[in-house]
Amino acid sequence: MGLKETHCWVCFATERDDPRAQWLSPCRCRGSTKWVHLSCLQYWLDTRLRMSQRQPIRCQLCEATYAVIFPRMGLLVDFLRVVDRTLTAMGPYGTLGLLVGSVYWSALTYGAVTVVQVMGRTKGLLLMRRASPLLLLSGLPSIPVLLVLGKTVRWNDYIMKLWRKHWYEPQLPPGNSRYLPPIPVDEPRVQPQFLTSRNLCGALMFPSIAVLTGRLLFPSLTSHLQRALLGGGAYVLLKGVLKVYFKQQLFIMHAGRRILNYCDVKRKQPLEAGESEGAVD
Ligand SMILES: [Zn+2]
Ligand SMILES: [Zn+2]
Repeated sequence: MGLKETHCWVCFATERDDPRAQWLSPCRCRGSTKWVHLSCLQYWLDTRLRMSQRQPIRCQLCEATYAVIFPRMGLLVDFLRVVDRTLTAMGPYGTLGLLVGSVYWSALTYGAVTVVQVMGRTKGLLLMRRASPLLLLSGLPSIPVLLVLGKTVRWNDYIMKLWRKHWYEPQLPPGNSRYLPPIPVDEPRVQPQFLTSRNLCGALMFPSIAVLTGRLLFPSLTSHLQRALLGGGAYVLLKGVLKVYFKQQLFIMHAGRRILNYCDVKRKQPLEAGESEGAVD
C-alpha cells in the first residue's frame, strides 16, 4: 500500500492497526474513501445484497458499480436462480395468478379425462376435437365444479322427510316423547356440508364410479355414454336408498332405546345376546 495514512472507509482502521489485512480499492473514489478492507467490504456487500438481490451494488459516493464476480455454479443453479427471480418479481398477485391458473388447468384436465372416460375414447376425443375452443375452455373446467355442487344437494334428506311424513311416523318410547333422539339423522343439517374432503372425493370420483357401475350392471350396452349414465343413475339410486334406509333404521333404533336401572344391569350380566352395550352411534 505504501501510504501510511491509508484507512478503511468502513471501520476507519489504518494499515498500522492490522498489517496483515487485505486492502481493496473497488471504485473510482480517491482520497479518504479510496481504500477499504476486503473483509469490511464483503460484510457491507452482504447487508446490501440481502436488501436488494437483483440491483448491481454501487459505491454510494462515486456511483461506480462494484465488479462482483460470483463463481460459476453450473446450469442447474443458473436455472433455479432464473425461476427464483421470476417468482420474486411476480410478487403475491403473480403467485396467486399462478395458483388460480394451476387450479384451472387441473379442472380442465379433469374435465377432459372425464369426457373421455364417460364417452369412450374415440367418441370423447372426437367430440372435443369438434367443439369450439371457447366451449372447451369454459365447459371442461366446469365439469368438476358441477360435480362438487351437485354433491351439496341433499336430496336424501328430502326423501327422508317425505317418508317420515307419509309412510312412517316413528313411535317415541315413553319418557322419550318430549324430544327426538339427538342423532344427526332427523333434519337436514342447517349448513350445507360444502367441500368436506369426503364430499370432494365422492364428487370427483363419481364419473369413475359411474363408468365402473355401468360396466358391471349393463355390460351388453355398446354406447359408453349410455352405460356411464345408467351406471351413474343406478349407483346414485342404490346409494340413496341404502342411505335413507340406514338413517331411518338408525332413527328407529335410537327412538326405541331404553335405559335400565343400575341394579337390573348387575342382575342381567352378562348382557343378553343381540343387545349391544351402550350403543350410541
Ligand atoms: Zn475495515
Ligand atoms: Zn466510490
